[in-house]
Formats: sequence, C-alpha cells, structure tokens
Amino acid sequence: MSDSRPVRVRFAPSPTGDLHIGGVRTAQFNWMFARRHGGKFILRIEDTDQKRTQEHSLSGIIDGLRWAGLHWDEGPDIGGPYGPYIQSERLAHYQYWANWLVEHGKAYRAYETPEELELISAARKANGLPPGYDRRARSLTPEDWARLDAQGKPYVIRLKVPLEEETVFEDMVRGIIRVRNETLQDAVLLKADGFPTYHLAHMVDDHLMEISHVIRAEEWIPSTPLHVILYQAFGWEMPKFCHVPVILHPSGGKISKRKHPEASISYFIKGGYLPEAVTNFLCNVGWNYGKTDEKGEEIQVFTKEEAAEVFDITRVTQTGTKFDVVKLKWLNGEWIRRLSDEDLARRLQPFFQAAGLNAPYEILLKVAPLLKERIKLLTEAVEMAGFLFRDDVPTPELSALIPKGLTAEQTRAALQLAHDALAALPDFECATQEAALRHGAEQLGIKTGQFFSPIRLAVTGQSVSPPLFEIMAIIGREKVLARLARAIAALQAAP
Ligand code: GLU
Repeated sequence: MSDSRPVRVRFAPSPTGDLHIGGVRTAQFNWMFARRHGGKFILRIEDTDQKRTQEHSLSGIIDGLRWAGLHWDEGPDIGGPYGPYIQSERLAHYQYWANWLVEHGKAYRAYETPEELELISAARKANGLPPGYDRRARSLTPEDWARLDAQGKPYVIRLKVPLEEETVFEDMVRGIIRVRNETLQDAVLLKADGFPTYHLAHMVDDHLMEISHVIRAEEWIPSTPLHVILYQAFGWEMPKFCHVPVILHPSGGKISKRKHPEASISYFIKGGYLPEAVTNFLCNVGWNYGKTDEKGEEIQVFTKEEAAEVFDITRVTQTGTKFDVVKLKWLNGEWIRRLSDEDLARRLQPFFQAAGLNAPYEILLKVAPLLKERIKLLTEAVEMAGFLFRDDVPTPELSALIPKGLTAEQTRAALQLAHDALAALPDFECATQEAALRHGAEQLGIKTGQFFSPIRLAVTGQSVSPPLFEIMAIIGREKVLARLARAIAALQAAP
C-alpha cells in the first residue's frame, strides 16, 4: 500500500440473527486484506438497532467467525486499545458528535412524530416527489427548539445535507461514484431515545478506531455519500472504500437466510463442512485466487493464508457471484482427504456425539483412513460408520440379505461357512480374513460379491460400508461372529 496510514480494517456485523455466509465472506476479505498488508483486523458489534438485536446472535457471530478461523486482533471478547467494541457501550461518543454537528450547523433537530413523517412522505409522493422527509425542520430556530423542548416533544438529529453540492467518492473496485446531494435524505443520525443510527455510529467508530479501509457489502453504496458528507462535516480523514458484490443463489437472486438454509454459516458447521473448505471456496466468490499449477490448470485447493498472500482487493468483482454448494461439497471432500487421520478422527467425534453415539477416539482413528476416501461431508461418516458404535445394529431384512442368484438356504450355508472360517482363524487381521473368505467363495462356487454382500449386511446392518475386512477387524471377532450367527438364525427361521 502506498498509503501512509497503517492498515486497520473491521468487520462490523449487526447481531440481528444467524451469521450470513455473505458476512463471513466480508469478514474474510477484511481478514485477508489485513494479513496481506500487515495490518490489524477488528471485530466491532453494531447493535444500535435495539429492536432488531437478538441476544444469542452475538455468540453465534463470534463462534461462527472463530470456526472459520478468521481471528481478530481487537474485539468485544478480547478488548483492545480502541474499545469498547460493542456500540451500545459507546453511546456517549455518538451523542457527543451528533451534538457537535448541531452546534456547527451541520445537523439539526427535528421534532416530527413517525405519524407526521408518514403523512409528509405520502404528500410528497402524491405530488410526484420522491418519498421521504422534506427537511422542514431546518428552519427551526434555537428558540423554537426551546419551546418544543418545554412541551416535552422528543426530537431526532438529522444531517443537514449541503444541497447545492455534489458528493464524489472513489470505490477501490468500482471507481468514481458521484451523486447530486439534493437526491439525498437528511438522514437521522441520532434517534429520540439517544441511540445513534448506523450512519453516524459506524463512521464515528471508524474514525475513532482509525480504520483505514472500509470493506463491506455493496448494499451500502447508496448510503456512502451520506457518510462522505459526514466525514467532510467533521473534517476527518476518510477511509478508503471497497464494496464487495452480493452473493447469488444458483437459482438466481440474492442468497437469503429466509429462503436458503445455506445462507447461514450454521448450515455448514452442522452439515459437516470443514472451515478450510468454506474459506477456500469463499475466496472465489467475488474474487479469484487465480494461480495455476505446473500443468497450467487453475489451483482449486488452497488455504486462506495462501490466498491472503496474493489478495489484491482491486481484483474484487463488480458483479455478484453464484454460490454453488455442489462445488463446495466437492471441495470439502478434497479437504477431508488432506487431513491427517488424527485430525479427521478428532473432527469426526462431535458428529458421532451429536448422533447419540459414543465413538472413542482410538476407534475413530482406525476408521478415519477408510472414511477419508469415501465421504464429502463429516456427517456422512456417521451414516457410513455409525454401526461401529451401535450395539443394536438391526438384523437386515431377509430380502436384502439374500443376494441375487442365491436361495435363502444357500445364503445361510454361505454365512455359516464364513462364520466357521472366521472363528478358526489364527488371528483377525484383514489379510488373514480375506484369504479365508476368498477361499470360502471358491469352495462354495459363488462369486465373491455374492459372498461378501450378505456378510457385510449381517455385520454392519447396511449394504454400503467402508472395506469389509478392515471394518471387521475394527469391530472385533466376537461381535462379528455374533452378528453372523444372528443372521444365520434369521435365515433358518425363513419360510
Ligand atoms: N452493521 C453493518 C452491517 O451489518 C455494517 C456495515 C459496514 O460494514 O459499514 O451490515
């Protein structure tokens, strides 16, 4: 960066619900930018809209960002030299600066009630004017204020937009953006209850926290001229702005928590995604890693740290990018394959726990290499290997147990042979089992598939599982024999 200001960026979510995947992407771009430029990444909670604030949302945001590995240098939980980092604890700042603006003629008091405002807006509309406030309280004098105050009328503080001017700012991605001030509202800065609005609070904080770059969602572009006017009114140095594009759902339109479960970070946390995969994927939503391998093919699997090394914010796209969960799922599988067995076992444990299964780490460690090639989501491990930790593996349906081409009696005889052969083995190693059972198939004169399929069903209760011999070695001979005996008994009882 050619700038002299130290890089300080922030993610400033409002705790109004689950952390949105778009929010994670914004946080991540800020995080990468800070890392790329040796700067600081700050988490600030913007809870000045008390009506929309939800109590559990703050911990959800913190947990979600932590899960994604987007660690901050300053924030509500860890403090820092510019704290507090929760806006509801900083009200005195906003009140002071709102009044400063009034004293310097840059803002004014307005006493209209919400009902009056609605009438004003409707009347404007009826006259073919843009809806909103008609700035009538600009003409009130301090004497009027004193009179209205004496009547106990509450007031808000509104920005006095310099109407005859034009406001221009430069977005790092979109270039120069210009608006005629007369098209802007005299936005409310401080509400009657003493709480600031977003417009005032965030920019006061960006100033006091010495934020150098504001990287945020594009929905804020229309409000940025108001913010620029505020910076000018205060005479404060402006941060650089970068607005990142919306995330689109593959079916079209903005991805939204209301319509799409995958718009919330919790969908990925609960759904068995790895944070490495999600952050890898988000790099390519509105930006692009763009590195190729020695064959000239685009590198798909990379870490957010690697991406941060080459993160160039001016390459953020101007148009929205689709969020393709199918591709993310593929990437997740790639990431799972890259984990060590120990790491995978550790990450799998909570998913088994959540399914009510007590899965000891040592057993997960044994099964991890078998699952690694076969799952795309951690949750799939529970479907595939949950039987390892269940005492009540169901006896399979006879119709499923009897393979194509065999009768019930032949199946029973085959399982009996398997049972006896496995019982007689000197050890229960995979290779020993395999040799014995392949030999068994030959003896029976049936295909190995026909032989192994009822064994698998009898032992695991399911038709798909990780490799049979490895699985039987993990389950242990005693249980394997008991499950085979159970299936044999079921077949004997068959009509
Ligand atoms: N609190 C705002 C939001 O949640 C922050 C916008 C900004 O980054 O300035 O969208």
